[in-house]
Amino acid sequence: MVCSKCGAQLNEGVAFCPSCGTPTSGGPQPQVYVDPTDHTAEFSANDISDNKIFAMLPYIMSVIGVIIALLASGESPYAKFHVRQSLKIDVVMMLAAAVTVLLSWTCIVLIVGVVAIVALTVIRIICFVQVCQGKAKEPAIIKDLKFLK
Ligand SMILES: [Zn+2]
Repeated sequence: MVCSKCGAQLNEGVAFCPSCGTPTSGGPQPQVYVDPTDHTAEFSANDISDNKIFAMLPYIMSVIGVIIALLASGESPYAKFHVRQSLKIDVVMMLAAAVTVLLSWTCIVLIVGVVAIVALTVIRIICFVQVCQGKAKEPAIIKDLKFLK
């Protein structure tokens, strides 16, 4: 057994390298980072592969895609997960658009509103790409909004 950092010889069972102090593989293992917004493991591989197309539709077609996905995917939890995420983006998008239009005479609101709408569009595209990869991740920023869980 040798130290992964400095290469020094280690005695069996030591938790730290005696020459540089690096924890050895015999010591406590570092925690594997788990993304709390990644729910991919909660869905079966069959569900994901069978209902990928329905999970994509809400992100492309918004509310129409949501309706098609709900009607066509049956009881697929994977499609429903993405329907929920897409609806969250839709709601925030509508609010951002409404505020922007109502207060468009205020230069700062107009700028912030347009930036928000562009950002939401980017989030939507990222979500779509993640469905293509068979993942189930909550969208950035939107995930912090606790309504529509
Ligand atoms: Zn060392």
